[in-house]
Amino acid sequence: MNQQPLFQVKDLKKYFQSGKVVTKAVDGVTFDIYPGEVVGVVGESGCGKTTCGRTVIGLYDKDGGEVLYKGKDVHRLRGAEYSAYCREVQTIFQDPYASLDSRNDVCTLIAEGLDIHKLVSSKAERLEKVKELMAKVGLHASGLHRYPHEFSGGMRQRIGIARALAVDPKFLLCDEPISALDVSIQAQIINLLMDLRETEGLTYLMISHDLSMVKHVSDRIIVMYLGKIVESCPAEELYEQPAHPYTKALISAIPIADPEVERSRQRIILTGQVPSPSNKPKGCAFAGRCQYVTERCRQEEPELREVAPGHLAACHLYNR
Ligand code: SF4
Repeated sequence: MNQQPLFQVKDLKKYFQSGKVVTKAVDGVTFDIYPGEVVGVVGESGCGKTTCGRTVIGLYDKDGGEVLYKGKDVHRLRGAEYSAYCREVQTIFQDPYASLDSRNDVCTLIAEGLDIHKLVSSKAERLEKVKELMAKVGLHASGLHRYPHEFSGGMRQRIGIARALAVDPKFLLCDEPISALDVSIQAQIINLLMDLRETEGLTYLMISHDLSMVKHVSDRIIVMYLGKIVESCPAEELYEQPAHPYTKALISAIPIADPEVERSRQRIILTGQVPSPSNKPKGCAFAGRCQYVTERCRQEEPELREVAPGHLAACHLYNR
């Protein structure tokens, strides 16, 4: 791409220390996010994807590396630049109920960003703007003075999205945005997010353990394992030609709607335990679960390298 990336993530590290134990939750992660893109981050629970997303946008301090937003160091923004950044970069979390203050009504919740950033000049303008935001996310204005507990999970997530949109963001970090919702509601929220991508010109970092959802919405996908990127490429290519044995196993576990195809395909069952991020083994972190493991894998950590144009994988199978 010729464009300047919106985010440039370079060798990012985030460690957590408890006593003498250091957990390397994010351990040298590098990728870019371009304007208008949806970048998916997938991996099993504990792979570091949530910590990665939060460190990228500056919710967590970093322990190494760098994140640039429009060329500026996210972790060093101050004053007016920081304030502008806080408007442009918003978050949608898994549990909308936990992120909505139950003492406030919907109007107050949605207007919070408008008030903080002084984006409206009168009460009437504020009310109009809130109503407009509610309509944008499919909420009826009759819910204006109701409280979060009066809404279903899907409606609460819509309130959360309206709150984020209030400050006219450029980028949304979506961390498991549908995993707390009923299956019947999940597609509605994803469709809303994708519609907003077009109408609002948004860019997304979409973090999820749900590969079929990520496949559906992403332009590019990053697969994480034990704090590192093990594969990254355009979404379709990842599903059609996965390179890393871990990705192949994850993809083989996605159910297929066609029962004939489902019956005829081979599942790769992952055995063995994920090593502890506080006690990583020497060599490839996936070695204990990989059917292709060799002695080299146990000794030497594979580097993330290009295995096809725009397709990166960290596996010795591609570097003999
Ligand atoms: Fe498997 Fe070796 Fe590749 Fe690791 S480097 S994924 S153990 S083949």
